Amino acid sequence: MSKVLRLVLGDQLSQSLSSLGDIDRNSDTVLMCEVMGEVTYVRHHKKKVAFILSAMRHFADTLCEEGISVDYVSLDDPENIGNFTGEVARAVTRHDAERLIVTAPGEFRVLEEMQNWETDFGIAVEIRQDDRFLCSPEMFKRWAAGRKQLRMDFFYREMRRHHDVLMVEGKPIGGKWNYDIENRERPDPSRQVPAPLQFLPDETSQTVLELVENYCADHFGELEEFGFAVTRKQALQVLDHFIVNRLPVFGTFQDAMIEGEPWMYHSHIGFYLNVGLLGPGEVITSVQNAYEMGIAPLNSVEGFIRQILGWREFVRGIYWLKMPGYASQNFLAADRPLPDFFWTGDTQMNCLRQSIGQTQKYAYAHHIQRLMVIGNFALLTGLAPKFVNEWYLIVYADAFEWVELPNVSGMVLFADGGYLASKPYAAGGAYINRMSNYCQNCRYRVAEKNGSDACPFNYLYWHFLIKNRDKLGNNARLGMIYRSLDRMSEEKQQTIMDDSRHFLNGLA
Ligand SMILES: Cc1cc2nc3c(=O)[nH]c(=O)nc-3n(C[C@H](O)[C@H](O)[C@H](O)COP(=O)(O)OP(=O)(O)OC[C@H]3O[C@@H](n4cnc5c(N)ncnc54)[C@H](O)[C@@H]3O)c2cc1C
Ligand code: SF4
Repeated sequence: MSKVLRLVLGDQLSQSLSSLGDIDRNSDTVLMCEVMGEVTYVRHHKKKVAFILSAMRHFADTLCEEGISVDYVSLDDPENIGNFTGEVARAVTRHDAERLIVTAPGEFRVLEEMQNWETDFGIAVEIRQDDRFLCSPEMFKRWAAGRKQLRMDFFYREMRRHHDVLMVEGKPIGGKWNYDIENRERPDPSRQVPAPLQFLPDETSQTVLELVENYCADHFGELEEFGFAVTRKQALQVLDHFIVNRLPVFGTFQDAMIEGEPWMYHSHIGFYLNVGLLGPGEVITSVQNAYEMGIAPLNSVEGFIRQILGWREFVRGIYWLKMPGYASQNFLAADRPLPDFFWTGDTQMNCLRQSIGQTQKYAYAHHIQRLMVIGNFALLTGLAPKFVNEWYLIVYADAFEWVELPNVSGMVLFADGGYLASKPYAAGGAYINRMSNYCQNCRYRVAEKNGSDACPFNYLYWHFLIKNRDKLGNNARLGMIYRSLDRMSEEKQQTIMDDSRHFLNGLA
């Protein structure tokens, strides 16, 4: 009987994983390894490292309870070589393995590494498709073929039809594909935001927290108040808690931000979906059931399902379609290094201080903070895609390259020249003021357009449009804005440029 080694990576913590499908409990071994190379190729947030390692250890325990033999290599094992190739090589020898089976990884970099293994180890290596998604890379490729620009809305409709989600007799429930007209209300600070469901670290998590404190002392972020779910059972509880307590107003307050309320009405399940503790199909079914049982209204349910069935699958499709070239795109030739406050939160711009501060603390910020506060700042100030991508990959516990890169390079930085988004998500301070209460406690004044007290987003917005006119001037969706710019006096435009130059020089 040939001896089979089955490698399970840190974001493959699903019992339905393709590489485990036909496991022979009598002869096969599952290999799981914590390798320093993965912890430090970008120096991930401490809480992110602790979350993944603890979830891995719990998953290994679950497999053992199922009678599966697991060879688990911990980060502090003195023999640990520190990278996948080295650890798999050791395990192949240790188990005298004749075959290696693995599910395709979520990052192109790791796939490239795996593609050398057959030669490296001289054994058969089978890389199986990751079927934990609702659209395979091949299906996405077929959908994208011949389209110059990809639009999520059309993809999402296809996915609704294909998976029969929120459909009745071939038509969208309620008659519309999208209910955003009822969503995205201003925040209501008088409403009590429900506390998120958090878990006290058990013994396994405590051991991991100590390990991370020792091995990642100089990484970004705080370890205190670790409350992530680390098992499937806990992740399911988080999902249920969301459905009952937050989903009913998810759509309404989807874009709202309130000082001191990092979790708002979001689901906080991205972490668990991305490491495999939850699957997208079961999440969509639960949310659809909640609609049918009258727990949540259609505007929230549709808005939420669109994020998972639409955006999540769409960005993954783009990643696998466009890699490796996508990572080096820089359409706007942005080249500024990150300001220090991205690492410290020490800035007088309150919206950024709040968003980065909570990122340090929780390894979490919700979509609008990522997109319209931090991302908007990165876009308007011309921060280099390479550094911005690295930052987002480091700081969020749900960040894996397949989902982080298209969101940052495509959605935030317009670095792909409009392949993912039809126009840059650029905005002045008025947007942040409308969707948050951050401006009330800011040293800058959102109503002022120029001068040392003016909200920097106000002049940086116009500076961005002026500076990138040769690249963006023909964008149909920006036509009206460029016409407003043309109506501005030369003197006003000069003031904008002067204020922006002064601000940007201060960043350096
Ligand atoms: C600059 C930037 C970087 C991002 N980086 C990541 C990342 O590294 N990992 C990640 O999972 N998401 C990323 N997102 C998408 C989104 O912000 C997060 O998925 C979301 O904030 C996670 O929190 P939540 O689970 O509470 O999400 P909710 O707001 O409750 O949404 C539910 C789920 O929908 C999915 N989703 C929503 N929006 C997107 C999107 N744009 N792309 C992919 N999935 C989406 C996620 O799985 C999320 O868990 C990024 C967005 C931006 C603008
Ligand atoms: S005034 Fe400007 S910088 Fe200050 S919180 Fe508002 S948007 Fe942010």
